[in-house]
This record gives sequence, structure tokens and C-alpha cells, in this order.
Amino acid sequence: MVQSSVVPRQRVSLLGATGSIGESTLKVLRLHPQRYQVYALSGHGRLDQLAALCEQYQPMMVAVPQGQGEYFLGLLQQRQMTTQPEVVEGTAGLCQIAGHPDVDVVMAAIVGAAGLVPTMTAVRAGKRVLLANKEALVMSGELLMRAARDSGALVLPVDSEHNAIFQCLPQTGGTQIQPQQGIERILLTASGGPFRTWTPEQLAAATPEQACKHPNWSMGQKISVDSATLMNKGLELIEACHLFAVPESQIMVVVHPESIIHSMVQYADGSTLAQMGRPDMCTPIANALAWPERIAAGVAPLDLFAVQSLHFEPPDELRFPCLRLAREAMQQGGTAPTVLNAANEVAVAAFLHGQIGFMDIARLIQSVITQLPMSRVDDLDTILGFDEQARQCAKRWLCDVV
Ligand code: NAD
Ligand code: MG
Repeated sequence: MVQSSVVPRQRVSLLGATGSIGESTLKVLRLHPQRYQVYALSGHGRLDQLAALCEQYQPMMVAVPQGQGEYFLGLLQQRQMTTQPEVVEGTAGLCQIAGHPDVDVVMAAIVGAAGLVPTMTAVRAGKRVLLANKEALVMSGELLMRAARDSGALVLPVDSEHNAIFQCLPQTGGTQIQPQQGIERILLTASGGPFRTWTPEQLAAATPEQACKHPNWSMGQKISVDSATLMNKGLELIEACHLFAVPESQIMVVVHPESIIHSMVQYADGSTLAQMGRPDMCTPIANALAWPERIAAGVAPLDLFAVQSLHFEPPDELRFPCLRLAREAMQQGGTAPTVLNAANEVAVAAFLHGQIGFMDIARLIQSVITQLPMSRVDDLDTILGFDEQARQCAKRWLCDVV
């Protein structure tokens, strides 16, 4: 009997295809056409760009915002498509492409709370979930990790720091740390963002353009502002607690301006393991796609003679209070991280629209956190309810102040 040596391609659903992570993911997938098939794509704005991606990748399904299906089909008809993809709409549509029985891998790369329900759907359906959408985990950490244990989903971190930590851990098949592994501390590195050396006076006058100009990484607008306030590191601290099952006290944030070391793990025997590489998201994406194998990411190896020296310093929580707010929210637990995240999303949008100043972001979040009582998280509805309440509260703050 002749046995076929052809391994079936893994079918990938890419949530947030039109974004920065979406673009990097497609770059890696293009390098491995024998290994991966782009099964489904989603996009929220820039539907022209999404239609162009459909022409290029010929997916079976595409998810667009609620009410935009017909308009999008019109865009597709102007293009060269061998077969028309099935077009689905809204959150229900995103859940369809995230949990579809034909899909093996889901890249969760929607920005913000909008990614929570589809990401949870992929986890509950037992997929290999490549997690870029850190806000989903910040909001639903315990629920999402429990759902993964129940369904057998493999949640692999795409965030460069968490992917680095994952690479420095014993490779046991999952992300959760066990006591016998002798792990003392996680060192979560931070570039410090574009304002690392700025004075309080300069910070108060910082503009959205300045905040979005990251020294090492090219990213979407929301995460760029989060990097400037260090809220990104705060969200990542919470993300790490859930992914790796460690208390917040076991994680130390280390500012490392070169972004060459992407994070470290310290062991009981005095070893510190670090993962290094160029600041390019294609590396963690390729790692999460292929793990436990390794595939090309299209990223050049590190040239240590060019790098020459690496620097480290503690974060300044006085100039960057968002990091402290996130740590406190994690200590509080329950719905506090959801409230923190929702208030931050409203604050960042207001900052980007020129409604509030850079230092008002932390003020707004602090005010919302102190106003809303903390509650236990029992289910997704509790989380979504608190997300909505926090947004309303944040908008009232804006009305009062602006
Ligand atoms: P981006 O803004 O470039 O792209 C976001 C994507 O989400 C787009 O495809 C957009 O259409 C979609 N989207 C936006 N709002 C939506 C909504 N309401 N409903 C459905 N889809 C919506 O963002 P990004 O930089 O690619 O970041 C995506 C996620 O990955 C974020 O959670 C971010 O924190 C995380 N992340 C990004 C990077 C990076 O280098 N860009 C690194 C680590 C983690
Ligand atoms: Mg990161």
C-alpha cells in the first residue's frame, strides 16, 4: 500500500487581519504555503484593505462589522476571486470563524475588549489559540485559562515578552508553571517607551503623534499609547500572571531600552535564562504557530557586534502611574482588571482624539477604579457588564473634565 507523505495544511483563522499583528502573521504564513492555509480573515475598518487581502489569500470565510456584509460583497465583486468567501457579520460572525470546526489555528489579533468573546469562543472550541489580544486575557484571565484546561485548547503567547518567557520555561506542553520547576522570578522587560527619559512637564504636554512614535517597535495606535504610558507593561503583568499561573509578586518589570532581550526567567539554582532577538513580531508569531517545532520567520539573526551593549533600569512608577494602577488591579483581582482595561481604552481613545492630555489617562483610570466596586468574576456576562459600566463611568469623567 502506498502511503501519502503529504501532511494536511493547518487552517488558520486570522482575527484582526488588517492590523499590525495581522500583517506580520500573513508575512509569516506566506513563507510556509505548504504548512498553512489562510482559512478565514476579519477586519473592522479599512474594508478595502480587507477585500485586497481576500483577493490575495482567497479565504473560505471573512468576518466584517455588523451591517457591512452587503457593502463588502460589492467590494469583492470588483476583484479577481476564484470563489467568493462566505461573508459573516459582527461578533456572531467573528465567533463563527473563531470556532469553525474546519479551523485548526486561531490568531487572536483584534485590539481591545472587542476581541474577548471571539477569543473565548476559540478557546472553548479547543483550538490552538495564538494570543496577541492581551486585553482579552486581562479581562477574563481565570475564566479563559480554565476554559482552555477544560477544552484542551493550547493558548500560546504572541506578545513578545510572554513568548520569550514561554521559550525560557521548561517545555512541558503548556504555559502554566509547576512548583517543582524551581522558578523564582519572571523578569518582564519593557523598552520604557518613547517618553522614558521625559520630565513630568514634558509628559504633561506630550502629543498623540509623539506617543505613537515608538523607538523600537512599529505597532497599532492603541498599544503604542499604552507603551508610552507603561499601561502596556501593566496589562502584560496581568497577562503573565494568568498565562504562567504566578502571583504578581513573582514578576519584576525591568526597563531595557534596546528591546533585544524580550524577557527572562530566573531559577532557584541562580540561572537566568533570556530570549533575545531583533524587535520583530514575526519571531514570536512563527514560534507560536509552529511550537514545538521551529520555522523560518523571515527575521535576520541578531548581530551582537552591532548591538554591543544592553542596559537595564527599574521603571519609574511616579512618572508612569499606569504601571502601578495595573499592579494594584491585579492584587485586587475579580473585576478590577476589567475595569482598568475598559477605563484605559476610553482614556486612550480620548487622548488620541485630543480631548485629554497624556497625564489625564492615568487620572481617568484611577477615578473609574475608585468609583466602581470590585466584584467576583463568575462568568463572561459579569465581565461584559463591568466593562460597560466602566466605559460609562469613564465617559462621565470626560464630560465633567473636558
Ligand atoms: P491594530 O490596531 O494595528 O489592529 C487591530 C485589528 O483589530 C485590526 O484588524 C482592526 O480592524 C481590528 N479591530 C479593531 N476594532 C475592532 C472591533 N471593534 N471589532 C473587531 N475587530 C476590530 O492593532 P495591533 O497593533 O495589531 O494589536 C492587536 C493586538 O495585539 C492588541 O491587543 C495588541 O495589544 C496586541 N499586540 C500587538 C503588538 C504589536 O506589535 N502590534 C505586540 C504585542 C501585542
Ligand atoms: Mg509586548
